[in-house]
Amino acid sequence: MSCRLMLRALALMLFAPVVVYPQDAATVLADAQRAMGSDALHTLEYSGSGHDFVLGQAYSADHPWPKFIVQSYRRSLDFHAPASRDQRVRRQFETPPRGGGMQPVSGDRIQDQIARITPVTPWAQQLDFWLTPHGFLKAAATRSTTLTWRTEAGKRMAVLSFAGGNGAQVEGFINADNLVEQVRTRIDNPVLGDMPVIAQYSDYREYDGVRFPTRIVHLNGDHPVLDVAITEVRPNVAIVIPRSAPAPVTAPAASGAALPTEKLADGIHLILGAGAASIAFDFGRYSVVMEAPGNEQRSAAVIAETKRLIPGKPIRYVIATHHHFDHIGGLRSYVAEGATIVAHESNRRYFERELAKPHTLNPSLDAVQKGPLKVAVLPVGDRRVLAGAGQRIELLHMRGNMHNAGLLIAWLPVQKMLIQADLWGPAAPGAAPAPVNTYTQNFLDNLDRLKLDVDRIVPIHYPADRQVTTMADMMRSVGRTR
Ligand SMILES: [Zn+2]
Repeated sequence: MSCRLMLRALALMLFAPVVVYPQDAATVLADAQRAMGSDALHTLEYSGSGHDFVLGQAYSADHPWPKFIVQSYRRSLDFHAPASRDQRVRRQFETPPRGGGMQPVSGDRIQDQIARITPVTPWAQQLDFWLTPHGFLKAAATRSTTLTWRTEAGKRMAVLSFAGGNGAQVEGFINADNLVEQVRTRIDNPVLGDMPVIAQYSDYREYDGVRFPTRIVHLNGDHPVLDVAITEVRPNVAIVIPRSAPAPVTAPAASGAALPTEKLADGIHLILGAGAASIAFDFGRYSVVMEAPGNEQRSAAVIAETKRLIPGKPIRYVIATHHHFDHIGGLRSYVAEGATIVAHESNRRYFERELAKPHTLNPSLDAVQKGPLKVAVLPVGDRRVLAGAGQRIELLHMRGNMHNAGLLIAWLPVQKMLIQADLWGPAAPGAAPAPVNTYTQNFLDNLDRLKLDVDRIVPIHYPADRQVTTMADMMRSVGRTR
């Protein structure tokens, strides 16, 4: 290299722009607060439209959460209270209906959720507030927040991080414009374990000195749960968030307190409570439980009741009608007891993979349940029979049902009883029967194919008034004489 070239290279090195990254969290936070206009923000209301998706209600293990139209979306935040209101008008999206989440939606379904945050509000209920871009900055300002730098997808970002109420780190990704581009954390889910929760913010605009994204995407457990375009943002407007009625608490039965039960037949017990039933069967040397709804608290109560009704026998099998989370949130408790899951073959790998995931963020679980579990699944194809000690359960696949690809019903030929989930339920007393939806129609088609001589139908989502329902009741409710 010539002397002149060397001098030129030296000059370039000396005068090239040097990017100086702040080295402390306080500076990054202050820069972000200034850029976003957070300091002077007391309330915020934003609205738009898009889609939402219901966690844990996928059509099959390979599908994302089912999608719904959000005709209108409005979020009101009061940073002083702090309190939040989330109002949505939702409509059916999937055509034909596919998956759970109370499909099909007929017309508009109004959803209005209010969260008022106090020091005792459970973290899971607070989180949606602190996930908002300005909510994150306000939380970071009052907590012990650390700074790291990370490069993702070629972008170098400052990551502000503090410990959430459940112990998981809440990480806010601040981009080169000092804007919150993503907030990530983890929260316990009864099925998925330490579930990733991600909020993504993009296409920022300015509204009276406040920067806010015009696109918001939330993901829970790797799939979107919200995807909205924001068209109106109003900082510091007077908002009144009404006091919500206290949420109904589905309290786990106090230890020792028996759950409501009904003897369906000799050695067959219906165990009620908490919106979904389980059925315990006495198989002589062991017992079998059908369905594990809710969570591990619910399962602990059902397992205790099963052992009271069918004493001195291990629970060897637990039958899962399908993989929707309201039906399998308590499965891990049975796995920890040593039970094998009986489920449709299409859900086998899903159960083996998801139920084995660690639950480090749930303090109520014991060490066995917290850690990775060895999950065993007995697969069911079109039909599988569990028989012994005078019991006979025929598990039958509901071919072509769009509620869930692996949906099973239990047919008890000796008792002429049929146990089913999410296919049909009686109307509440005095209410008009709902129009026959495609899931019920498929159920009727499968029953025509199977030619079962059904007497009683037992819905897993058992009627609150505990009315006994028969095949004749169902046929009447769907306008058929049989
Ligand atoms: Zn379902």
